[in-house]
Parts: sequence; structure tokens; C-alpha cells
Amino acid sequence: MQQKTLVMKFGGTSVGSADALAKATQIIRDAVRDWDRIVVVTSAMAGVTNLLLDSASQSALGGGTSPLPNAESALREKHFSAADALIKNDKLRDEAKAAINSLISSFVDLCKAIAILGEASPRALDAVASLGERMSLRLLTAVVNEAGIKAKGIESTEFIVTNSNFQNAHPDFYATKEKTQALLDPILEEGFIAVTTGFIGANAEGVVTTLGRGGSDYSAAIIGKVLPADEVWIWTDVDGVMTTDPRIVSSARTLSEISYGEIAELAYYGAKVLHPKTIRPVVEAGIGLRICNTFNPTHEGTRLIANGRRNGRVIKAVTAIQKQRLVTIEGRGMLGVPGVAARAFGAVASTKTSVPLITQASSEQSICFAVPSETAPSVLSALEETFAHEIEVADIDRVWSTDDVSIVTVVGAGMKRTPGVAGKVFSQLGDNGVNVLAIAQGSSEVSISLVVEACDTEGAVKALHELIVS
Ligand code: ADP
Ligand code: ASP
Ligand code: MG
Repeated sequence: MQQKTLVMKFGGTSVGSADALAKATQIIRDAVRDWDRIVVVTSAMAGVTNLLLDSASQSALGGGTSPLPNAESALREKHFSAADALIKNDKLRDEAKAAINSLISSFVDLCKAIAILGEASPRALDAVASLGERMSLRLLTAVVNEAGIKAKGIESTEFIVTNSNFQNAHPDFYATKEKTQALLDPILEEGFIAVTTGFIGANAEGVVTTLGRGGSDYSAAIIGKVLPADEVWIWTDVDGVMTTDPRIVSSARTLSEISYGEIAELAYYGAKVLHPKTIRPVVEAGIGLRICNTFNPTHEGTRLIANGRRNGRVIKAVTAIQKQRLVTIEGRGMLGVPGVAARAFGAVASTKTSVPLITQASSEQSICFAVPSETAPSVLSALEETFAHEIEVADIDRVWSTDDVSIVTVVGAGMKRTPGVAGKVFSQLGDNGVNVLAIAQGSSEVSISLVVEACDTEGAVKALHELIVS
């Protein structure tokens, strides 16, 4: 009979305390009954990655009092209190604590080295950030073993092979497949569950990389694809993908199903519940994806489906990304001149910035696009350099950017067949006093994105969410 394989990923909150770890362990125990082969992917405990990266950045700045002693004791307290609460077996507990302690020592050493250099390179930041998952791996593996479930811990740096694009590394799926099968298959065949780290990998030379913030979801999908698994389940702190972020609108509801196209737009436009890169590997490998709540495990959560079925609503969900700026290139001399857009986006690409939204007025007198706020200064300089001549001869009047704005996006596969959605969206925003600065419709017609002032973000999300629930 065909063996059934499940990959389960637990997010930061789901392993963030003794209570959460106990719940995660129960979920693993239940899965052991129904599945032949199980891989568990863990995030760092909630707050740990931020703490590690903040400490590294502050070390680089130098001066003042060192944040290190506080960070060091916070890390120890967080991991050790969970270990003390859950692991009664002395040997298991002491080994886990010793391993975590030695990772905390590496953290201190790395931060001291960064302080001496006065600079934290992307490679150094990845080495520091990786410690969160490496610590939670030791903790979770011991907790699961303590509960009588046979588990072996293995770092994903051993088998997720990436390029050297530190902080946003891309996996080499061929090399990863070979190594993952070679290392995980024997563990699974011996009847153990394999516990591994999300978020991290290593380049061909074995140097630690990370897949980008929130990347543990992506790790689960990569492992699911290369094993291959039948299903990937993402365990988080809400009941699945909801009509909007429940932190913004408390009446947000769970969507029991969502299509590939819809979740892709939602994740890309800021819904943190799923890392946007998670979708492609599972879709390509035909793997089932489910998003569910560690703190409410009997809830079915959300299932990913191939085609968007109508749930009676044209707009299914609304999401927002904050801290963006609109960059505009304007000037009458651009009218009908071929290649301006290509040169503009070439300049943006040279800064390694990705552009989430583009609009061009039909008069061709301006090109306008959004970029993450922190990249705006370098994007503006690159554009000024590229168009130095046009600016000098006044073919381009100016290149400028707004203050912080937000991109608010409504998503729903039904929009394709329904006229008048954009009109409804505009009047709803107008009625609620929200001014729209720019608009773009996804080419798949599954989403409409609107740019609003930063101060209007919440108002816009709340107003548009009313279109879904009313
Ligand atoms: P994890 O640590 O488990 O990966 P994240 O914090 O990365 O969890 O993602 C879960 C969070 O995503 C939720 O707590 C919720 O606030 C936020 N979120 C944003 N948009 C949505 C949405 N549409 N549906 C559900 N959660 C959302
Ligand atoms: N711990 C990593 C982060 O905070 C990865 C993750 O949680 O998915 O970004
Ligand atoms: Mg996440």
C-alpha cells in the first residue's frame, strides 16, 4: 500500500510557549495515528527572530550600552522555561538545554564580531537569524520525544540547498531533492518523525542562508515538493485564511476554501498568514495545502483548491501592505518616446527592488509605481542617474516619491465575471472618506489594488470588508 506522507509546519506562536508546544505535540500525536510518514517543520519561538536581528543591528551600530546581556538572558529564559515545564526526563532536558546554550553562545560571539566590524553583512545577519529555528528545533524535538513520540531532529541546512542570495535565498530544487530524500527517507523509514528547521538552508559551500522573513511556510512547501508529500499543513494562530486580518477587523471570517490564484494575490499583497512563495511548489507538485489553528485544532481551517468556487461573494477577502511609496516619473517629453518604461524599470531592478504595483496614465506623461518605503531613496537616485540627460533637457520634469502609503487589495476569483466591482469599491471608499491615490487591477482579474494614504489604511480595510460581510 502507498505510504501517506504529511509535512506539518508550526509557526512562531505555535511553538512560542510551553502551552503552545504542548498543543503542537498533541497535534503531532494525533497525526501519527493517521499518517505513515511525518515531517515537522518548526519556526523560531515567537519574537525570537526579531530579537536576534535587532541585537545584531544594534551591535553593528556600536556605542551606548550593549543589548547583548539582555537578549542573551531573554533567549535563555524563553527556551529554558518551556524545557523545564515540559521535559521531565533529565537527560533529554539537559541535552536540549546544553545544545540551546551553545547556540546562544554562538549568538553572543557573532554579535561581538559584528560590533568589532561595525557592520552586519547579509551573510552575518543570516547566521544570526538562523539561530532561532536552530534553538526551537532542539526544544521541540526533545518535547516530542518526552511525549513518547519517536522523533529525530535534523537541521534543514543539511538538505535545503540554496544560492548565496543571503536574506532571500532561492532553493536549488534538484540538489535539495537529492539531499532531502537521502537524509529524511531513512529517518522516516525507521519509523521516526523527522523534525526540522523552517526558514533556513545552506549554499553549496555549506554557509547558512535564510529564505526571507516568514519563510518557514516556504520551507514546508519545498520539503513537501521534493519528498514528495501528499499534504502540507500550516499550523498558525488563527483559524486559517480569513476575509481579512483579524487583528484589523475582529469580525473577519475563515474562508473554508481558497483558490491558488486568490491565495497568491492575498499573500503577495500582504496577508501574512501564508508566505507568498509557499504556493508555487505545492501547486506544481499537486500537493494538498491546509492552513489551520494550533489553538483550535478541531476547526477545519482553510483548504487550497485548484479553481475558485464562488462562495456567493464576488469579493472574498481584503488585505493591505503598509510602508510603500509611490514613485512618479513625469514630463511631457516622455510622450510617445519608446523605451522609457523599460529604462525606468531597468533602473529599479538595478537596486534589487521589486515593484508590487504599476500604473501608467494613457497620456504617457507619467509612469507611477509603488516600492517598499525603505528602498525609495536608492530607487530615486537610480532613476535620476538613468534619466540624467532627459532631466537636463527637461524632457522629464521630475522624479519624485510620496510619503508612506499603503496598498489595499480586494481579492476574489468571481470579479472576473462580474462587472462593476471597481465601481462598488470606489464608492464604498468614497462614502467612508478614503481618498484613492492610484489603482491597478491584477492581469488575472482576481484582484484590484488601491493605493491610499498611510493614515487611511485601517479605514479602507474596514470599509471594504463590509462589502464582504454585508
Ligand atoms: P506564524 O508565526 O504561524 O507563521 P504569522 O504571524 O506569520 O504566523 O501569520 C499569521 C497572522 O497573519 C495572523 O495572526 C493574522 O494576524 C495575520 N493575517 C493577515 N491577514 C490574514 C488573513 N487574511 N487571514 C488570516 N490571518 C491573517
Ligand atoms: N522565524 C522566521 C521569521 O520570523 C521565519 C518564520 O517564522 O516563518 O521570519
Ligand atoms: Mg508566518
